[in-house]
Amino acid sequence: MLILKFGGTSVKDANAMNRVLDIISKSQETQLVVLSACSGITDKLLTLPHYAVNNNKIALYDTLEFIQYHHLNVFNDLIASDNEYYLLGKKAIESLLEELYKFTESILFLKESTPKSLARIVSFGELLSTTIFHYFLNSKKINNVWLDARYLLKTDSNFQSAKVNFEESSKFIQKIYSKDLIQGSKLAITQGFIGADELGNTTTLGRGGSDYSAAIFGKLFNSNEVQIWTDVNGILTTDPREVEDVRTIPVMEFDEVRTLSYLGAKVLHPQTLIPAVESSIPIKVLNSMDATQQGTLIVNRIIEEKPVLHSVVKTDAVKIIFPLTQYDNFVHKALEILNVFEKSKTTIFFISILPDALTIWFAHSCNILNDLDKLFHSTFFDLDLSLSLITLVGINLEKLAIKKFFEEMEITDYSIVSNSSSNNIILSSSRNKAKELMKVANELVVKYL
Ligand code: ADP
Ligand code: ASP
Ligand code: MG
Repeated sequence: MLILKFGGTSVKDANAMNRVLDIISKSQETQLVVLSACSGITDKLLTLPHYAVNNNKIALYDTLEFIQYHHLNVFNDLIASDNEYYLLGKKAIESLLEELYKFTESILFLKESTPKSLARIVSFGELLSTTIFHYFLNSKKINNVWLDARYLLKTDSNFQSAKVNFEESSKFIQKIYSKDLIQGSKLAITQGFIGADELGNTTTLGRGGSDYSAAIFGKLFNSNEVQIWTDVNGILTTDPREVEDVRTIPVMEFDEVRTLSYLGAKVLHPQTLIPAVESSIPIKVLNSMDATQQGTLIVNRIIEEKPVLHSVVKTDAVKIIFPLTQYDNFVHKALEILNVFEKSKTTIFFISILPDALTIWFAHSCNILNDLDKLFHSTFFDLDLSLSLITLVGINLEKLAIKKFFEEMEITDYSIVSNSSSNNIILSSSRNKAKELMKVANELVVKYL
């Protein structure tokens, strides 16, 4: 069985959905197709509770109309009005839209939005895209079943970033899946990003969470491959929006990709790989705009002795140093500080604990930044907000003399944060020099790929 996940740009309009149809039509295997919301719709949906709470009716109804217009347009572009599924499909889309209007209006009435209602509202993006696609397939006489991911993925009640209960979810999946059939069909369509808690309330897996859904379904359905279809040729040597001369990496290890996503590359949801690694399911990243491209295959291990660079990523980061020399037990003090960071759910990129100091690199966007003085009023610290981290990933990197390469290229404006791992080298530079460093690092990666 195959899991195929299509991201927002891959289902953004009728042309994109036609390309998805082409791709899934090529395989004879049982397929579970996981779709994101149409590109841009999740962002729009997220503005609705905000407008409703602030009684901004003009913006609220404009946005609702935009969402309605977009989906009805895609539907009308895909299915001819004389097709036997046209009226049925239109009714299904209209009833979802009506539900969205009603739900938003209840927030407008109460002037109160909760994480729970936000999750419910944002789920309409995926519910609408998958419903359109299901009827589109029906209209082409392609036998398929539409599955509500909320009956499949059972999660806790952390509505914005829910944790999946694999044991519970697998019970539900057993019910609908036997041998290689999904409710009697070889093709099922479901939503990425959403699940439901014990009480049936809609939950979400965090922004970009459809990738994670695909990997979770991969594990739960015991599939032999997870394909992530997106709008670039695979995982690239760096972010194509920042640097022009990028290449596709043919094969990468799970650990490299995890580091890449964690340290800022938008290409995959950082947790995507965990369920796949646990079940040793290979993941492919492929281009839905050009299915002839080989894409990137992500595997457990690449057999190779030499150091090989694969990709480089940049992220803004905060560096905070806590001097520890005055504490008898510096490890105890360091753990006490780290506990505060942990409690505030700060994304920590890198930590070093030495007898003289604890250094933490963390995400610039984290809330803790506003509370540092309050949280550490009796502990001295030194803060640097002007830095970026540039991370190179690859394999056997402990054997790579990165300094020598940069010397040859006459690059000096950087520091090495960490070079002891085999799959990454973390560098830092001032934020205004970071893009240049990333470009040079990309040249290096491309040269030796
Ligand atoms: P989707 O909508 O398919 O989930 P995303 O926008 O979430 O797609 O992720 C794909 C995008 O990630 C690409 O369009 C690209 O601009 C960006 N990206 C950033 N870094 C990389 C990288 N190293 N390799 C590939 N894509 C990258
Ligand atoms: N639609 C959701 C988002 O935009 C999930 C996803 O696309 O992966 O975050
Ligand atoms: Mg994505």
